[in-house]
Amino acid sequence: MPDTRTSPVDVPPATDANYLAAMNARHVWHPMAHPAEMQAHPPRIIARAQGVEIETVDGHRALDAVGGLWCVNLGYSSQPIKDAIAAQLDTMPYYSTFKGATNPPVIELSHRLAEFFGPDGMVRSFLTSGGSDSVDTALRLARQYHKATGQPERTKFVSLKRGYHGTHMGGASVNGNHDYRRNYEPLLPGVFHLAAPYTYRNPFGLTDGAALARAIAAQFEDEIAFQGADTIAAFIMEPVQGAGGVIVPDASFMPLMREVCDRHGILLIADEVITGFGRTGAWSGSRWYGVQPDMMTCAKGITSGYFPLGAVMIGERVAAGIEAAEGAPGTIMHGYTYSGHPVGAAAALACLAETQRLDLAARAEMRGAQLLAGLHDLAGRFDFIGDVRGRGLMCGVELVSDRAAKTPAPELVKIVCDAAYDAGTMFRPVATNVLMSPPLVVTEGDVGRMLDCLEAGLSAV
Ligand code: PMP
Repeated sequence: MPDTRTSPVDVPPATDANYLAAMNARHVWHPMAHPAEMQAHPPRIIARAQGVEIETVDGHRALDAVGGLWCVNLGYSSQPIKDAIAAQLDTMPYYSTFKGATNPPVIELSHRLAEFFGPDGMVRSFLTSGGSDSVDTALRLARQYHKATGQPERTKFVSLKRGYHGTHMGGASVNGNHDYRRNYEPLLPGVFHLAAPYTYRNPFGLTDGAALARAIAAQFEDEIAFQGADTIAAFIMEPVQGAGGVIVPDASFMPLMREVCDRHGILLIADEVITGFGRTGAWSGSRWYGVQPDMMTCAKGITSGYFPLGAVMIGERVAAGIEAAEGAPGTIMHGYTYSGHPVGAAAALACLAETQRLDLAARAEMRGAQLLAGLHDLAGRFDFIGDVRGRGLMCGVELVSDRAAKTPAPELVKIVCDAAYDAGTMFRPVATNVLMSPPLVVTEGDVGRMLDCLEAGLSAV
């Protein structure tokens, strides 16, 4: 296919699907995909999005039950965010916040974040360019906190199997899914994984969530005794595991893990990259579980995906410990060019104001209950749905070829998602699961249509 551009800065003709597909195959490497597979099976070219609907370059429209990538909480047409971005670009498109400089949107955003996350015990924020940045920042700050407070040997991390914490070296090291690890090993030494709070499948054979929570807490205690508490810096977990398959722990799980951390001086980092800003039905996933972590990692919903931005929220204890250390041990020798990007901060300010004004946490609770009820209804009619899970507007169904034997059926997931997409809704296939994280602004009618499309997808099996 000849390159028809007349200048190197021309944008490809956004209507020519064949041209775009050929150029994509030739030049684009996609995250989480084999390049050859993307060449053989070209991805859908999403060219437009409005409301809660996306549209391909050749005009196929679908409701977005994925919310971009667990992030477009306000849907695709939030005028206040677009206006805030445009206005900030006019005022000042960029300046750094490295030592000696700051800017008004960053000051205001940090103030607002401290208010929003005040009930979670957070007092400071450190801005980043996304979730992976936030996770690595939190891991590094955990080590710094222990060095600053006279426990320099606390360097190890503990996390959960099936956890997803991004793909930087630190985040990949605490990730609990081998697919994200193997090609990039060796990862950080001194990282240990506990079982996931996954009642449908776990090494203990426990189906009761509270009993499983106790078993994992005992495993944590055992690992601490083996490693030595004085060597462990932090435990990191998602309040609800997202990419690992929407694993919703029992209500007792996060409080139990908090107790174990407290007994042994281990910091608790809540990875709220998906669960922050309302998706679980509360302002943070930690709050839904009634736990105050020591740090929270955020991204995604902070700007509804309109601008790449993340934040690490820092709790009282960590802030006090680091700030009290004089000189080098208290100095944050960490940061990114885009830590405190003024356009990102302006986008976040508008996004968070809208998130509050529209009371999206309450909406997530209500529409999530509708979605989950619909999924349970489908499970009653399709016997290859092995498990249904959800909290707020994070939901998933796990497909099996034999319900009694719980035989994983990843091959069915693609059939279901493709047919559901043809029927008019994009779902996210991940391993044996069909996952959902729609915009939090979905209406009752949108959720009904999404369920109809999923039913059409399931009927294609
Ligand atoms: N943590 C969690 C819980 C996530 O879900 C993700 C992204 N899905 C990340 C971290 C990484 O975020 P990013 O892709 O923005 O780097």
